[in-house]
Amino acid sequence: MESKKYIDACEEYILHTYNRYQIVIEKGDGVYLYDADGKKYLDFGAGIAVFALGYHDKEYSDALKNQIDKIIHTSNLFYNIPAAKAAEKLVKASGMDKAFFTNSGTEAIEGAIKAARRYAYNKDGRTDHEIIAMNHSFHGRSLGALSVTGNAKYQEPFKPLIGGIKFAEFNDLDSVKAQINEKTCAIIMETVQGEGGIYPAKPEFLQGVKKLCEENDILLILDEIQCGMGRTGYMFAWQEYGVKPDVMTCAKALGCGVPVGAFVLNEKTAKSSLAAGDHGTTYGGNPFACAAVDKVFDIFEKRNIIGHVKEVSSYLEEKLDALVADSDVLVGRRGKGLMQGLIVKEGIKPGDIVNKALENGLIVITAGSNVIRMVPPLVITAEHVDEMIEKLQKCL
Ligand SMILES: *Cc1c(COP(=O)(O)O)cnc(C)c1O
Repeated sequence: MESKKYIDACEEYILHTYNRYQIVIEKGDGVYLYDADGKKYLDFGAGIAVFALGYHDKEYSDALKNQIDKIIHTSNLFYNIPAAKAAEKLVKASGMDKAFFTNSGTEAIEGAIKAARRYAYNKDGRTDHEIIAMNHSFHGRSLGALSVTGNAKYQEPFKPLIGGIKFAEFNDLDSVKAQINEKTCAIIMETVQGEGGIYPAKPEFLQGVKKLCEENDILLILDEIQCGMGRTGYMFAWQEYGVKPDVMTCAKALGCGVPVGAFVLNEKTAKSSLAAGDHGTTYGGNPFACAAVDKVFDIFEKRNIIGHVKEVSSYLEEKLDALVADSDVLVGRRGKGLMQGLIVKEGIKPGDIVNKALENGLIVITAGSNVIRMVPPLVITAEHVDEMIEKLQKCL
């Protein structure tokens, strides 16, 4: 077993902050992964909703190789060509006004929080602004993002976190109303909660929150890091709701494997929030990462990835619903498009099913305490869905 030696080395030299599956991934091709012992896996996790285009897409890889031969880092003391192209595509796809590139999702959240505080500060000069976040949310592990993550277990050992954060119940408009006061500068939420257990926002909730924001000049920050980039059948999940955020965060599939994130501002927020000197990053917006983003948008359009997601996801939903109906282990399904959660019966650990699936050559992941999460590459076909169902059935 080749894998064993790499697992041992990782455990010897890397800080143990992850309880990993005992598998060493060596390479990927299409929607399949191969481990260091040559075992093949059908991948419905996509590196946690990252590899929207699957592995080893030739056009994507060639774009990166090309950029490597030119330049991969310039610093933000200079302009670069891929950043110009990527930002235009991101702004146009979202109908927003200005983008700021980061290196990860959690940094995009940090930037969104700073933009919101700065917007409110410009307005009234106060330094005690509050942000309302949601219970069971996930926004990242850096201290600002952790402060708006509604998960006591993640937060507790790292207190004190940043101040002025209040929590409300997702999909409960009254609980949000109850937290609003004259200090509130922003409301932050995922359009579809991911880590918390695949909970889509109800239309009346998101529309209600938007109305509250407009009435009180509060900024709506939508975290699209997991649910964005076509996953729900819309480029950004909020586009289905007829609600537009003031600030949006992206990462994960934005670079399809290259680490990159962004926060994107509407005109009102861009005009009066972060200005020269207020925010920065050494690597953010580097030409390598931006060449990936540019090519990802290019491929999405050329291959009509979103049209494909709409089509294949209705097939997936149908098959998952049939699986749930037939199973006495699964009690329900939640999700949108290619972001789906199967709810397991009380007393059964979703992790046990995930482990069995791995033995059967299928990668699925967990979410919340009782959900099996599927966030496959957006390029899966009906045949991959059939293969997944067959493998999953064996584990139930
Ligand atoms: C993954 C995730 C983040 C954090 O992104 P990182 O790149 O891991 O820092 C933030 N918000 C949501 C909704 C996520 O799914």
